[in-house]
Amino acid sequence: MKRLICLINLSRFLFASFPLSPQEFLGYKLGEKFTYHHQVIDYFEQVANTADHVQLLHYGDTYEERPLIIAVVTHPENTQTLEQIRNDHLINSGLAPGNTSSKKFAIVWLSYSVHGNESSSTEAAMKTLFAFSNTSNKTTMEWLKRTVVIIDPCINPDGRDRYVQFYTMTGNREPNVSLHTREHQEPWPGGRTNHYYFDLNRDWIWQTQIETIHRIPIYKAWMPHIHVDYHEQYINEPYYFAPAAEPFHERITPWQREFQTIIGKNHTRYFDEKNWLYFTKEVFDLLYPGYGDTYPIYNGAMGMTYEKAGGALGGLAVRTSDGDTLTLRSRIDHHYVTGLSTVESAYKHRDRIIKEFKDFFSTGENNPAGRYKAYVMQGSNMDAKLNDLLDWLDFNGIEYGLPEDPRSRSLRGLSYRTGKNESFKLDGEDIIISTAQKRSVLTNVLFEPNTIYTDSLTYDVTAWSIPYVYGLDAYAVETPIKIKSDFVRKKIEKKYVWDTRPYAYLNKWESIHDLKFLSDILKKKVVVRVAEESFKIKKIFYDRGSLVITRRGNEHLGKKFDEIVKRAAKKYNTDLATVGTGLVTKGKDFGSGKMRVVKAPRIAVLSGDQVSSRNFGEIWHFFEQQIEYPISVLDASKVSSFPYKEIDVIIMPEGNYRSFVTEISASEQIKKQTSATKLIKNQIPGKLLDW
Ligand SMILES: [Zn+2]
Repeated sequence: MKRLICLINLSRFLFASFPLSPQEFLGYKLGEKFTYHHQVIDYFEQVANTADHVQLLHYGDTYEERPLIIAVVTHPENTQTLEQIRNDHLINSGLAPGNTSSKKFAIVWLSYSVHGNESSSTEAAMKTLFAFSNTSNKTTMEWLKRTVVIIDPCINPDGRDRYVQFYTMTGNREPNVSLHTREHQEPWPGGRTNHYYFDLNRDWIWQTQIETIHRIPIYKAWMPHIHVDYHEQYINEPYYFAPAAEPFHERITPWQREFQTIIGKNHTRYFDEKNWLYFTKEVFDLLYPGYGDTYPIYNGAMGMTYEKAGGALGGLAVRTSDGDTLTLRSRIDHHYVTGLSTVESAYKHRDRIIKEFKDFFSTGENNPAGRYKAYVMQGSNMDAKLNDLLDWLDFNGIEYGLPEDPRSRSLRGLSYRTGKNESFKLDGEDIIISTAQKRSVLTNVLFEPNTIYTDSLTYDVTAWSIPYVYGLDAYAVETPIKIKSDFVRKKIEKKYVWDTRPYAYLNKWESIHDLKFLSDILKKKVVVRVAEESFKIKKIFYDRGSLVITRRGNEHLGKKFDEIVKRAAKKYNTDLATVGTGLVTKGKDFGSGKMRVVKAPRIAVLSGDQVSSRNFGEIWHFFEQQIEYPISVLDASKVSSFPYKEIDVIIMPEGNYRSFVTEISASEQIKKQTSATKLIKNQIPGKLLDW
């Protein structure tokens, strides 16, 4: 029998030009086991290779080098190329110049398994892709006539494979439904987060992680009308879908609210028919902009979170509190149904969806809502910080410019520094971000000094204003400020004037770029001094913390010395200057004891199940990815065997540190009074104390 099935499969594969189902391709029914990411990729490739109307786009790789892909599906008889459809969609939405009279499509984007251990949705992604690639499916083919479906099978493959590998290693042959067995108890750090243990469903707006950095450009290239972010929740919570809970951000449009209900009602038709349980309007609100629902919402889309019971506790099957058994199979089916129902809703309401999407951007441009009309980032802020801000604005498509007519105009605005309304003078170098622009809502949400919410009981943080994020002096102004129309951003490239063979190089200590510079030259064995007091030389003021790199002491580097220092300054765009003397005009000279040599610290960070994985990951990421400085990762439970002689600094992330607790015997008196024989004494282990 098996052989016969194989032959049938083979013949389909050889002679037919339609794709295999997940079961035919993988050799098992979806839900019987978890599918690894490389198998999911293979399946998507197989579909794209056999179905002409499915195209794959490899948009990046994760830290662990797993591919990130989307499949874009159109109707098989569609004569337009995907690129034409995409371009026309942007033109129709007012997001690209030009005219077009071609057919309009609703663009639906489905994103799966952003939390890796909420793993059923990637399995559902394969089933969903098959439904839209299978040309004999009349229903989906009808919807595809007026919709484009984009499927990202897994936003977080590193985390998901971490979970899948755990389950594959620990699951019994017959799944054990008891929650207390090992297969339901995922160990530290768990698969929810990515390689650096970041929660990618908080990173949409900050773009600190490589998955997000790769995803945002392709998201912006398509600007979908609908974006669904697939999740799983606690095993006893059956299913959650839109409409979301309060608080909604006040900038969310009436249509975005209305459509949440429309789409929810469409889902309930299917869920009611099958007697499936679900809830709406609870827990998951729409406020913080770092989510996979709110970031799309503030970009004009219908952003939604769908949550099925499951997660790491789910395994292949688990007993729930009502005595039922929750299976991976059912989790897949439920996510599959909401995926199809979402596309169906888009198809049915496409005209309104397309119109409202366009209005979202034109209203932003012509009649922006909100109290503040412009945000002024003062030109006097440090170049490096302003540059970082402009990079972020460019990445998110937020427009800005210089004031058209500064002439030291006096304005009033809310100072982000003092939190008060103040007068200030507009300067020609100030960066102006007007709320009258296509991405007005995103701008408004991100720059507002105080978030206004209808209900303070919210799922996440309530404060995120950008000037604070970048440490900028800025004002929020209630009157519009005109921007120079011919403003073109020039990358701030420093024009260095360096002496050849200077006595010393000087570098101010102002931003993270200076830290990156220091990290770079320390790794190359450059001897660096740090000024403990401020000084002045060649009429330039250097604050304490400035770096002084003298030729003396760096002889061991020979001819390479100058090149190493200069190259690092150029790489990180720092303010590196040269001087021909060690004699300062004010303050301490370079040979002074106040010019302390910086010893390159040998740094370790503690990890393991006694520490918060996310706090640990943040530190690990900071050293490895942000400042590229070596760090040794130690297991907190091995505190008595740390290589103390090889470490100068130990960073202890947030944690409980059981290993640092010492038990002592109770005294006779305590034994008598309390009958306790042992006492817990919080004390630092001896070896750490001696270090
Ligand atoms: Zn989740």
